[in-house]
Amino acid sequence: EDLSTVSEGRGVFKVYPPEKYRDPAWAPVFYNPRMRCSRDISSVIVGAYAELLGRGGLVVVDAFSATGIRGIRYALENEGVGRVILNDINPRAVEIIRQNVDLNGVSDIVEVRREDASSLLASLSGVDIVDLDPFGSPAEYVDPALRCLKHKGLLCVTATDLPPLLGKYPKTCVRKYFSKSIETEFSRELAVRILLYFIAREAAKLGRTIVPLYSYYMEHHVRVCVLVLKTESRYGGLTDSIGFVKYNPTSLERAAVPLFDFYREERSDNWVVGGPLWVKEIFQRTFADAVGRAYSSKLKAHGLCGKGWRVVSTILEEVSRPPFYFTTEKFASTYRLKEEKSVVEVLEVLRARGFEGSRTHFDPKGFRTSASIGEILEAIAKS
Ligand code: SAM
Repeated sequence: EDLSTVSEGRGVFKVYPPEKYRDPAWAPVFYNPRMRCSRDISSVIVGAYAELLGRGGLVVVDAFSATGIRGIRYALENEGVGRVILNDINPRAVEIIRQNVDLNGVSDIVEVRREDASSLLASLSGVDIVDLDPFGSPAEYVDPALRCLKHKGLLCVTATDLPPLLGKYPKTCVRKYFSKSIETEFSRELAVRILLYFIAREAAKLGRTIVPLYSYYMEHHVRVCVLVLKTESRYGGLTDSIGFVKYNPTSLERAAVPLFDFYREERSDNWVVGGPLWVKEIFQRTFADAVGRAYSSKLKAHGLCGKGWRVVSTILEEVSRPPFYFTTEKFASTYRLKEEKSVVEVLEVLRARGFEGSRTHFDPKGFRTSASIGEILEAIAKS
């Protein structure tokens, strides 16, 4: 067959030549070279998890493997991985996965399956890491993934159905995620928060709690990795973590509204409301630090991509910063400013005035700050 060979990270893979297909989803077996940087970050996350939990011999399930590139890379690039289950429902994918497993010499720790992801996950237990990377929405697979994880397991989920999550199709978003999305300049962050909310709810009904460790947006997808505890979050736990966002498109004001305040609050017509969604941290400091360290040390050794490093290093700046970033572009258009200032200029003035501030990986024109709209406008005028 007409396969080409690509190298990614520490592995070498047979794939259907991506240049032959306008959309990777049209190839007999899916392979998207543009997801490389996202796989780089994902592989580093697996290593950071093993390191921070001090766990070895990890059992990893790559439930939607396609060519097997993701799971095979996890095994090749991380000592902590002990066993990997690679699964795909497509028989041609399974053939390619077998070839790639042999090509990379990992057959002793890899098991290849050809099942529907839900049935496979339902048949497993005591798993350390589940990776969900389906076409479109991962919603239906989150429940069986959560069930098969052991206490303090890691769940990583990709969503490529961005139009619903970004507020283009709010009704579809309600159908898939039980949450209404809205279109704002920070909708990429809201997409992550909606996905986290959905996972938190699926976990809560099973008496489990999630702790978001790492979240990011990259070309056409968002991805979140959460720690899953087999304990119920009692009292304030879940209700403090979920809520709504309110957004005033005329002034650009925005705020998180805790769930119970929302039900009590009076609303005016100027505000657009989205949610429910996750209103607490979407990154964990220690985890982001570990990912940053590991990515920079593997950058050369594993040939990781520079774009991934820009995401990972910007996340180091934005961890623990205020939610719901602003953009210089939206300020310029909403307030009809004569020119659009750069993020660097605006942040310099804000910091000099004693406000918290950072860039965000979600948008090159985005910035996080504790300053109010009025203070930001002043800072823009002074920069
Ligand atoms: N993880 C891969 C990577 O990083 O290159 C890409 C996975 S691709 C987006 C989705 C894959 O899921 C396809 O190969 C498709 O055949 C497979 N698939 C679709 N529905 C499935 C199901 N219900 N169970 C298992 N695999 C499925």
